[in-house]
This record gives sequence, structure tokens and C-alpha cells, in this order.
Amino acid sequence: LTENRWRDDDAPPPGDLVDSRVYTSRLLGSDHSLVLHGGGNTSLKITRPDLFGNLEDILLIKGSGWDLASIEVAGFTPLRLSDVVRLADLESLSDSEMARQLLTYRTDPSAPAPSVEAILHGLLPYRFVDHTHADAILALTNTTRGTSLVEEVLGGSVLVLPYAMPGFDLARQVAQNVHALTPDTHGIVLMNHGIFTFGESARESYERMIALVSRAELASPAGIRRSDGKHVDATGDRRASIVRLRSDVSVAAGAPMILRVRSDETSLAFARDPGVTEISQRGPLTPDHVIRTKPVPQLGRDVEAFVNQYRDYFRRSEAHARTEVVMLDPAPRVILDPELGLVSAGRSAVDAQIAEDIYRHTIDVIDRAEALGGYRTLSEQDLFDMEYWELEQAKLRLAAPQKSLVGQVAVVTGAASGIGLAIARRLLSEGAAVVGLDVNPHIATTFSGAGWLGITCDVSDGSQLDAAFDRLVDRFGGLDIVVVNAGVFPEAMTIEDTDLTVWQRVLRINLDSGLELLRLAHPLLKSSPVDGRVLVIGSKNVAAPGPGASAYSASKAALTQLARVAALEWAADGIRVNVVHPDAVFDTGIWADGVLESRAEKYGISVEQYRTRNLLHAEITSSDVAELALAMLGAAFSKTTGAQVPIDGGNDRVV
Ligand SMILES: [Zn+2]
Repeated sequence: LTENRWRDDDAPPPGDLVDSRVYTSRLLGSDHSLVLHGGGNTSLKITRPDLFGNLEDILLIKGSGWDLASIEVAGFTPLRLSDVVRLADLESLSDSEMARQLLTYRTDPSAPAPSVEAILHGLLPYRFVDHTHADAILALTNTTRGTSLVEEVLGGSVLVLPYAMPGFDLARQVAQNVHALTPDTHGIVLMNHGIFTFGESARESYERMIALVSRAELASPAGIRRSDGKHVDATGDRRASIVRLRSDVSVAAGAPMILRVRSDETSLAFARDPGVTEISQRGPLTPDHVIRTKPVPQLGRDVEAFVNQYRDYFRRSEAHARTEVVMLDPAPRVILDPELGLVSAGRSAVDAQIAEDIYRHTIDVIDRAEALGGYRTLSEQDLFDMEYWELEQAKLRLAAPQKSLVGQVAVVTGAASGIGLAIARRLLSEGAAVVGLDVNPHIATTFSGAGWLGITCDVSDGSQLDAAFDRLVDRFGGLDIVVVNAGVFPEAMTIEDTDLTVWQRVLRINLDSGLELLRLAHPLLKSSPVDGRVLVIGSKNVAAPGPGASAYSASKAALTQLARVAALEWAADGIRVNVVHPDAVFDTGIWADGVLESRAEKYGISVEQYRTRNLLHAEITSSDVAELALAMLGAAFSKTTGAQVPIDGGNDRVV
């Protein structure tokens, strides 16, 4: 049953209204069966003096852009309550005008834009109001006999209202029904949308939410979907299938997309269910989700068929649209495939993850609703109105310019430290999804977030590298950028003293692993929805070797030659291969404590002089190399392949 997460030890004192509001908002946000990814909203009504000492009634409502799970006091927008409530007296009001008016009612102009449900929250005559899209409630409302089912299960404790478009329409509907609230009413259930609860304390409103959702849960126990046991043979190569699917989805979207593949038992069983072709096409759990998942999932791998289906839906619905609309990209966001299971798609790794999370909850609620007589959702036009809601369309028009690598996937070897780490960080900051490979197990947590996948991997072991590629394709759907960086710099030794096993180890790590990586990457780069790019981290030693570094210099020279051949062979596939030659980058693992000092001493100069021993007297850092790497992977180098660019402050043996 839904857990009551209230803890007296953690809760603020009841008199502390604002802190209590923050506390229970976070409790709701932390439970994914109640609230998913920015869904739901909460509010509090307080009275406080303005600058002149006049008491004002204020509605503190969740601001847009804040997530309940992590909301703070600053995430609640203060609005003049009387103004907010008065809007409901209007016969009609466009949602964009409503949003504009609400902005003018803020008592703090730096507060975020308030939730579009502000009027509704303002109208409800309770101090605390909580709103969620709880799975268990949707399992009741999204059924063929939804209204009577909710009455049976929660009757007496809740007011049940038919579906209305969120925003002004819903606020008007609630305004017309406020009179029906009695002291016994603990909440309002909105059909095909979610639930509101309210109370005089944060705890009362929260615990009413938990109690009502728990009653709904008892009436709709989670169904366990079992596979029919029939094994579906994967036709062909799984990795190739996913990469092709990502390519097709990206073409449909007009931009590179991230795909996430989830092949667990529940997802596979749902995707293989003979009824899935019909049941999955009935629509999402709650109107909010349509922005993340599109109205329906794609079935199987035929992206073109889905695009045609989406265009037809747009044409049918556009005629009845509430405002002028521009078609969104017609690419699917959820794909159900009998071999792959649940595949989600997004413009970024976060978007793909959100679509996956939402759809996992959707499968669960569909199963419960089916057990209660049949899953039923909104009409196609209602879904269209939500997907093309003027407030959402306005957001799209105002969307900030995208970062340059959004939707692209990069792999960086040796990403736990030094140059590899700096490049991985820079790629992430430009919006790429990054796979870091390193022998250091800390690689898993070097960065956090949906766009990072760190895999412990010895790149000189072909089978480990192969397994890492399976994981990266499942997580992000393909590959656009390869940074060949992992390498070792053995202790200095003369040729006479060089042991063959040391020599071979250096060549295996610095050179052979590069070949293996490129071999594995080629089919993925070739199918990249943008241009595939390879950047090889060479060394100044290629052009200007030093005594005592035979194995290192030979390995980097051979690696450079490998890159040049790759540039020749792969140009026809649109793949660019370039090399960067850094020198004297002292903030890397090679230069452990003391090494720099002993080198400087050997040359009879200070550490500072040793650091900047180049024509420009410039110190080169990992971040400098990462900045050059980013440029070489970007538009400035879009017509360059086979190039070698030094980053060494100028070296008189190289220029
Ligand atoms: Zn809602």
C-alpha cells in the first residue's frame, strides 16, 4: 500500500506553515506512484502584511520548473489570492491570457511563473491543497465504468468531476462545484486526470491523499503480467537493430534522438501480449503525459508507418483545434517491440528516461484497469488539445537555443582522469550523452544524471569492450562520437633496457585497443543520424619523440597512422577522423606527485619553467585540450578529416 512517509522527527512544527508545505510537497514528490517528473502541484494560503502593514491573503503555489521531490520555499510563487479567485468569474479566458494575468498577481516579480492550476487551488476553501496523478486513482478513473467505480470505492469522501481541460476550463468547472463540498469531503477526483486533497494542516491534506489513494489501491491491486512463455527469436543482430531504429526515429524527428531500451520481463510481456496492438493505442494515463509520450506508442520497428499515423491524427484534430497550431515532430517517444520490449525516445537522455518511467507506470495502470473492466482514456480530440495546448506551444516557441550536442552520444576511453575526464565533462556540458570507459571502478559515479554511463572496462580486453558496446547501445541507442584517449606512459627507459613485455603491454593499451574500439564503433558511426566523428588523442612525441620513451612514442605514432587510414577508409561513410597532439599536460594521471619536480631538477630549471617550456610559455591544461577537442568535434571542423592539430604551446621541433 502507498506508504505514509510522514515522520514526526523530520516534520517542521505544525505552526510553521511554509516549511510544512515544503515538507509534505517533497513527501508526495518522492513517491513515484503518486507523482512523476514534475507532475502534480501543491499550495498554501496564508495571510501576511504588505510593506504598509496591511494584511494580504496570499496563495503560495508551486512554480513551474520546480519538481515536488526537490522543491524549496523559493519554488512557491506568492500570488494575491483575491485577484486569482476573481478570474473564475469570467465567462471565458484563453489559457495564455490566464497565464499572463497570473504573472501580474505575483507579490514577488522574481518568483517563478505559477502553476496553471493556480485558480483551482485558490478556489478551494482550505489552507493546504495537494494534487497528484496517483496511479491507483487513474486505475479507477481510466476504466469503462470509471465514475461509478470511483463512487463505489471513495464515495462520500470525494467529489467526482468529469474530465475538463486543465487550465481555465478546469478552474471554471471547479468553481461551479465548490458549493458541493461538505465537511466530509476530503478530496476531488478528476476523471482521467488525478486527485486533489485538502486540509487545514499540511499533515491533514497529505494524509488524506495517502488514505484515499490506499483505498483506491485496495480496489485495484497491481496486476502482475506474465509472459506467455513463448520465446521470440531475435532476428539478426540486436545491436544493429537498435542503431537502425535510432537512425529512423532521428530522421522522423529531424534531429538526433536518444533511445533507451528496456528488455525486462514486464516490458517484454506487455510488448508481446496479443492484445497490445489495441490496448496500447487507447491513450495515456493523464493528459500531462502526452507531452512526454505522444498520444500512443509505436508498435514494432516501422517508424514511417507511425509518422503517417501521426500526421493523419494531426490533420483530423487540427480542424477542431482551440488555437492555431504548428505540427510537432511526428517521431514516436515510446516503441513497443516484441524482441526489444519497451524502447523510449527523447531529444536528450533525460527526456528518454522520463518517457520510459511514464510508460512503465502506464503498463501497470493499464493492467489494473483491465482487471477492473477495461482501460479507457480521453478522446483523441482531448489528447490533441493537451498535446497542442497553447501554453505548451508557447513554451516551444520560446525554447532556449539547444546546446550543440543534444541528442548525440559519445564514448570516451580513459574517462576517469586527466584529458579523458576533461573531455567527458565538456561533452556533457554541451548536452551529449556520454559513455565513459575506464579501468578505475569510480568511473560509474564520475558524473551523475541520465546523460552519463560510466563502465568499468579494460579497453585492451576485446570482450570487455564488446560488452560495453552492448550496454551503451541499450542505454542511448547508438553512437556519434568516439574519443580514443586511454593510454599509458611507462617509466622512462632506454631501448637496451626495454623489456619486450613492457613494450607489448604499452602497444596493446595505446594501439591495439584503438583498433578494436574503431572496429566496434564503425557500424554505429556509419548509422549516426549526424556525422560520425572520431578524435584520437595522439602526442607531441609523434612529431618530436624524446629519448627514453620508445614504446610510448612508437605506440602514439602507430595510432596516428591508424587514424589517418581510418580517415581514408571512412570518408565515404561520412565519418571524420582527426588527431590532436597534446604536450606537457601536467594535470593528468601520468604526472603523479613528485614526477614534475624530478623532471625540472633533471633539466636544472624550476617547476614553473618546466611547466611552460614552450614557444608561448603557456601552461597546457586538460581543459585546454577538452576545449580543442570540442571544437574539432564541432561545426568548425565539419569539413576536415585526417588532420593533426598540436596543442603544446608551440614546439620548435614541431612547427
Ligand atoms: Zn494535474
